[in-house]
Amino acid sequence: MRQLIRGRVLDFHADPADTEDNHRYLEDGAILIEDGVIRATGDYADLREDGLTEIDHRPYLILPGFIDPHIHFPQVQVIASWGAQLLDWLNTYTFPEEARFADPAHAQAMAGRFLDLLTAHGTTSAVAFCSVHPESAEALFAASDARNMAMIAGKVMMDRNAIAAVQDTAQQGYDDSKRLLEKWHGRGRQRYAITPRFAITSSPEQMHAAGTLAAEHPDCHVQTHMSENLDEIALTKQLYPTARDYLDVYEKYGLLSENLLLGHCVHLQPREIKRMAETGSRAVFCPTSNLFLGSGLFDAEGLRAAGITSGIATDVGGGTSYSMLQTLNEGYKVMQLRGQKLTSLAAFHWATRGNAIALGMDDQIGTLAKGSDADLVVLNASATPAMALRMERAQTLAEELFILQIMGDDRAVAQTYVAGRPMKGDGA
Ligand SMILES: [Zn+2]
Repeated sequence: MRQLIRGRVLDFHADPADTEDNHRYLEDGAILIEDGVIRATGDYADLREDGLTEIDHRPYLILPGFIDPHIHFPQVQVIASWGAQLLDWLNTYTFPEEARFADPAHAQAMAGRFLDLLTAHGTTSAVAFCSVHPESAEALFAASDARNMAMIAGKVMMDRNAIAAVQDTAQQGYDDSKRLLEKWHGRGRQRYAITPRFAITSSPEQMHAAGTLAAEHPDCHVQTHMSENLDEIALTKQLYPTARDYLDVYEKYGLLSENLLLGHCVHLQPREIKRMAETGSRAVFCPTSNLFLGSGLFDAEGLRAAGITSGIATDVGGGTSYSMLQTLNEGYKVMQLRGQKLTSLAAFHWATRGNAIALGMDDQIGTLAKGSDADLVVLNASATPAMALRMERAQTLAEELFILQIMGDDRAVAQTYVAGRPMKGDGA
């Protein structure tokens, strides 16, 4: 099926922090889609054809769909849980809630709700932690595959320091992960991420099993957490007394590579920064979570200057919004507290092509280039009365984007397309 999506089209071909020649903006633009893939992006006048199905989103902006590279699927009913920092928050709220995902019916029901929330907020791809139970990953992959969403996910491996209902063993964690990986990795748009939750909840035997899986499947991502909270770092050092630092736990088991996504990275030591840069390991900035759990302020410019590629993510349910717009809003404020600047162009680059680069998938998602999958978000910067009033004084594209970044949420998402299919409201 061929269709033409018309609107004010924006995508990025370079990082605005590197160069002024970074984006393409078409005031009356269009995206030609066939079988879920972008065949061409250009001026509407050049792409229109007689008889072609057209959807006109003018005056709204059309961008590549947002990518959320760190989110917890079984925390859909943990988000907004009061008052704790990381370790208490996990034990008090998160582990008991994740225990419910042993039930396939619950996991299936939540998977549909989770993906509906992502697309309602304009997010078309995510990297998701599931619960320890294989049923949770099965449910998420099945629902994502049915929607033809590009999803990277894995069941968490965790064999200690949690209630029994959310623990596996080193061997069971390996076996379950391997079975899920062989079933889902590369099936449609699904990809498996090997997912040791973090050093505290994995024994050395389990970290070894995770390293074995990563070596056996070098094309899979590995996702985990690192240096989010000072108590977490102290406990990790107790549990791995011979490790030189937190990163050394993951290094020792062979996990450092361009496929490694390290959530948080708030309190890094100089050796860790150096080794992350040398190995291409990715940092993932989770601003709403870092503020909500009182974890600390990510050093975006410092890591960038050190040569580390960072993604930006929601981290729901430690994070407080599914919206990548709100994530960019809080990211801007965290950087302000660090004396750093995030321009609106750099912010929208980060949530699209930047996150795709962090995942090594910028040839498939994150831009509107010919051959990319047709994942799109349609944004209305006048979606609320307050935004509309502010927009009356906006003069430039950068200002419009900044209004979306600071004031926007799912109400500003007029439509979301996944592989060319509308996912929101009457259009879905
Ligand atoms: Zn997380």
